[in-house]
Amino acid sequence: MKQKILGLGRKRIVVIITLVSIFLAIVSDYSIAKLLGHNFSASQDLLRAGIIPLLIAPFISWYLVGLLFELEKLEKEMNVLATFDDLTGVYNRRAFYKISECLHTYSLSKKEPYSLLIIDLDLFKRINDTYGHSAGDKVLKSFSQIAKELSRSSDVLGRIGGEEFAFFLPNTTVQQAQGFSQRLLTGINASVVNFEEKLIRYSVSIGICIHSGDQDTSLHEVLQNADKALYQAKENGRNQFSVFSS
Ligand code: GH3
Ligand code: MG
Ligand code: MG
Repeated sequence: MKQKILGLGRKRIVVIITLVSIFLAIVSDYSIAKLLGHNFSASQDLLRAGIIPLLIAPFISWYLVGLLFELEKLEKEMNVLATFDDLTGVYNRRAFYKISECLHTYSLSKKEPYSLLIIDLDLFKRINDTYGHSAGDKVLKSFSQIAKELSRSSDVLGRIGGEEFAFFLPNTTVQQAQGFSQRLLTGINASVVNFEEKLIRYSVSIGICIHSGDQDTSLHEVLQNADKALYQAKENGRNQFSVFSS
């Protein structure tokens, strides 16, 4: 409803408010005149009743409708801030968990498998220490860009910590998750981040956990297990993926 009204545009809304105000003023004037037994002169009373809203309504409504549009813009900006990570543009931690919870429930209802990946940039502190924090930021952006380019539109990517990301891959088997992880590792290994004429290479480690779709495991457990697999990938030497097995 609100969207439909705002869709009319500021000018149209002001014209409508003004016309409605004039109409209501005339109707009130006429009703009061009738109630008190006064004569209602079409030419004089119509003009008198209509002139005040005609002079006041456009200015007040122009201002108030302007505020309404401003509020709408702020609301949209707030939503973006509450949903997306402002450095990388991917979902922030809160939004990622919220969407994943919905997708988890959906996958269970359909008995579809899904995969959850936790991805951590390797020795990222060293990148910051060597090239500076801004260079590190550029690497984080580069990673997000590559990860989005290599994923499907149905995959959900979130930044869940400083240099830690997570992927919810709906309707994805372990083989598919491994294939995707390998493509991601290859893509990252082939990429170079150019920061102030310096070429930075980096790698990531990936922990994978699969939910078969019919087991009784919560999203929280799946995330914990993906984290264990990530730890394993780090232990095994980084720049690789590891699949959780119980
Ligand atoms: P490991 O391979 O074991 O993960 O080592 P690591 O160095 O990546 O891990 P560690 O936890 O020691 O360091 C993570 C670093 O990430 C430390 C922190 O300053 C940096 N970091 C976190 N958030 C940001 C950010 O938004 N921008 C930049 N540039 N650095 C960040
Ligand atoms: Mg790290
Ligand atoms: Mg980390």
